[in-house]
Amino acid sequence: MTSGIEPTSVLITNARVLDVEGGEYLEGTNLLIVGETIAEVGGSEVGALRDSSVIDAEGHTVLPGLIDAHVHVTASTADISALAEWSPSYVAARAGRILRDMLHRGFTTVRDVGGADHGLADAVQEGYFPGPRLLFGGKAISQTGGHGDMRPRGRVVADEHPCRATISVVCDGVGEIRKAVREQLRTGAHHVKLMLSGGVASPTDRVDSTQLSLEEIRAVVEEAEAANRYVAGHAYTAHAVNRALRCGVRSIEHGNLLDETSIELFRQHGAFYVPTLVTYRALADEGPRYGLPPGSHRKVSDVLEHGLRALELAYRGGIDIVFGTDLLGGMHPHQAKEFAIRAEVQPAIDVIRSATSVAARLVGLRGRIGEITPGAYADILMVKGDPLNDIAVLARPEEHVKLVMKAGRVMR
Ligand code: ZN
Ligand code: ZN
Repeated sequence: MTSGIEPTSVLITNARVLDVEGGEYLEGTNLLIVGETIAEVGGSEVGALRDSSVIDAEGHTVLPGLIDAHVHVTASTADISALAEWSPSYVAARAGRILRDMLHRGFTTVRDVGGADHGLADAVQEGYFPGPRLLFGGKAISQTGGHGDMRPRGRVVADEHPCRATISVVCDGVGEIRKAVREQLRTGAHHVKLMLSGGVASPTDRVDSTQLSLEEIRAVVEEAEAANRYVAGHAYTAHAVNRALRCGVRSIEHGNLLDETSIELFRQHGAFYVPTLVTYRALADEGPRYGLPPGSHRKVSDVLEHGLRALELAYRGGIDIVFGTDLLGGMHPHQAKEFAIRAEVQPAIDVIRSATSVAARLVGLRGRIGEITPGAYADILMVKGDPLNDIAVLARPEEHVKLVMKAGRVMR
């Protein structure tokens, strides 16, 4: 409950509710919201309480608030190493803007996989920053010379002060890594993020590298499970993806170069796949303009082409696919375009499930987010149009979103 606000009730009438699991519309639906949660869903028998305000949906489509499971809300520049030199308060202020804009696009929950901390999550929860519910992991864990090591080759000294606005922490060996993980969990981290292969935005590693030893990865999985949390792993190649899955990593981020052997391992381990396709399109087109260094820009082409093929393998393989975007700097406004890219491979309903019910299962909030049912948070998106037949309804929110409600409060 947001502090100082009495629970209120809202009746939404005449909505065309998208049942995302059933894949069909429920016409003429009324929704009664009490406080933060949906109390009743039904026909005209669902009426107002004495203090309810009423919103007439006028037949517009209502679906659960969207979930983006791969964001970096502190990354207001694409030059991640520069970010570490900024004042943390300045970084927070700029993150506030990014969060607000995500909410306005219809995202009511986001999972930050490197950068966001308990302070930002509290600022949103307490209403200081309007934004989506922020599931944070603190700093991602990287090895020396790994995807989270932002030093150029010529720099030896690393400043690992925890207050620097880095998206990751560099550590090596089971002992150091356990301590780093426990430090993140101590702050209430919702998950632990590992850098398990090279990447695009890092200065010295190769995309085809594997990072962290099996022993180190297993230690992290053990620490996360001990705290009833789970591990998300950044990985590109099939080799990096497969060793992560075998060690018990629950969600694989990017995975552009995975193959059939990976799909089988996803199935065996019940793991989730989080592609982030829009970021490569945006980086290829606009990265340098927003501060992406030339070395990183060259790496984009290595992974861009493979992303759609990986999504296709995953879709045909029937594994759980979750919506993610991974945008940096001024490219954040492209967030919703991920819907259109995925619809090149998957039916619209499956893309919508990726951003609602399947994402909710990944983050352990099934029954609370990603569905319009009694007991769930009243995270509600009202749009003009038919997203099952035209994914642009979600891909172009500036034209289609009529209302965004988060936990019972109208936010846009
Ligand atoms: Zn990554
Ligand atoms: Zn990322």
